[in-house]
Amino acid sequence: MERSKERVVVSGMRPTGRLHLGHYFGVIKNWLRLQEEGGRRFIFVADWHALTTAYAEPEKLRKNTEELMLDWLACGLDPEKNTLFVQSKVKEHAELFLLFGMITPKSWLELNPTYKDLKYNLLRVAELKENFRERAKVLVDEILPRLGLKVEDENLLREILTEELAEALVKALFEGALEADLLKRLNVDKKLLHQIDTYGFLGYPVLQAADILVYKGNAVPVGEDQLPHLELAREIARRFNRLYGETFPEPQPLLTEAPKVVGIDGRKMSKSYQNAIYLSDGPEEVEQKVRRMVTDPQRVRRTDPGRPEVCPVFTLHKLFADEPTLKMIEEDCRSARIGCVQCKRMLAAEINAFLEPIRERRRYYEENRDELWTIFEEGSKKARETASRTLEEVRQKMNLP
Ligand code: SF4
Repeated sequence: MERSKERVVVSGMRPTGRLHLGHYFGVIKNWLRLQEEGGRRFIFVADWHALTTAYAEPEKLRKNTEELMLDWLACGLDPEKNTLFVQSKVKEHAELFLLFGMITPKSWLELNPTYKDLKYNLLRVAELKENFRERAKVLVDEILPRLGLKVEDENLLREILTEELAEALVKALFEGALEADLLKRLNVDKKLLHQIDTYGFLGYPVLQAADILVYKGNAVPVGEDQLPHLELAREIARRFNRLYGETFPEPQPLLTEAPKVVGIDGRKMSKSYQNAIYLSDGPEEVEQKVRRMVTDPQRVRRTDPGRPEVCPVFTLHKLFADEPTLKMIEEDCRSARIGCVQCKRMLAAEINAFLEPIRERRRYYEENRDELWTIFEEGSKKARETASRTLEEVRQKMNLP
């Protein structure tokens, strides 16, 4: 196979803590499949990307990076079949990011849906505050004279009071209704809202483009929501090629269908919802979590027939149980032959059987952390070899010394 036609897969993950079942079925399982196919694969811990939002908490970064490395190897990612590495150890990503920054119009980034959401929410907050300030002003103007309050500097008081009131009202909304309703619907973390209006956050799709193209990656496993980012990487590659000559491939999506993985409360499994079953959870932790799972809300008594199609326990069974078992659970649930307690016990056993080899491999690397780091150091070295070749070509084409 010709080198240029070879499939080069590039994929990464932010280190944000331990991985859960949602990550396994959404991403890792696909990587495990890909590692048995042809071509080359570069898989990296995206620690610089983690800093685009969590720059104020660097103390967690190293620990989270290590957790991710442990989880990857525990799941069976093979360092012989994949180049596994840490992004910040390959400085060429940063150099290409900088050079791509020179040719990327700002408007391309401002159209990025994630950035647009952030801007929209920031504007909404500013608007709310402005509205409150106006209303508070009227209130103060009317109330102060009515109460006959005598103050030395009424103007100053008015200013402070309206500002304080507006602040308090916005805060109250954030702690209350907005938090519960709007922010949840928009899936926005209120803490992040103000913190991530940075140059780094605006520019992270350019860094993503550099991550892929520095290895001349031509295939990127993505979900539908990541397609705009990949389109941007393609546009940057096209622009570079037009300006300086054919250099980069246009990376294509390897669209992966991720099954629905629900958390113990029935919502999407997510660390932020605190509803996740982690790959590193022990058997008892799994049992406890599964015991707490919500089920069909209409099944109140043991004798009530259940509806597996609305039950999160059944949704998880689908990921672990074989066809005959699934069929049996479904029929037994509908006819109330099985109780939810027993059904959950079966699920916990299925999950534990699935996790046991993962836990075992994790234990090994936890006890041999030097070996763990060596694997990723070696991987980073290997990644650097490819990346530095690309950068040599790029510098030459851009007439850099
Ligand atoms: S028996 Fe199982 S599938 Fe049916 S409602 Fe109970 S937990 Fe859900």
